[in-house]
Amino acid sequence: MAYDDQNIFARILRGELPAIKVYEDDQVLAFMDIMPQAEGHTLVIPKTPAISLLDLPAEAAAYTIQVTQKIARAIEKALGVDGIILMQLSGVPAGQTVPHVHFHLIPTNVHHLGKHAAQMGDQEKIKAQAEKIKAALES
Ligand code: 5GP
Repeated sequence: MAYDDQNIFARILRGELPAIKVYEDDQVLAFMDIMPQAEGHTLVIPKTPAISLLDLPAEAAAYTIQVTQKIARAIEKALGVDGIILMQLSGVPAGQTVPHVHFHLIPTNVHHLGKHAAQMGDQEKIKAQAEKIKAALES
């Protein structure tokens, strides 16, 4: 799939749509999510045109994560929260709705968002999945 430069975040990056910004430099923008899942929900995006984490060049990914860490520390300090979820949805089936890679910082408890580590998985199935991933890494 080709990058659509008319997506909402590309338009925010070009200044065509407004955003409540908290940080910007030549490579990254951080701004408040318009439909926050918790107070202080912030998005961090690279300026590199990439749809998902999977097609973001490694250097841009590394720098975006550095800035994400910086923003997380600021959220913690500013809002007095003691837990922040970092969420990154890659691909429509995963729930991605805006086709420009973005990292969510959601100051909350994971148990408020849904199911987390609630039930032991089938260990044999998990091992088989791990073997498939390891084989893909080696190929
Ligand atoms: P996704 O589901 O793709 O991981 O998350 C997209 C996020 O972008 C959602 O949390 C949604 O609330 C946010 N969002 C969608 N449109 C806008 C917008 O125009 N401005 C801002 N600030 N956030 C947006």
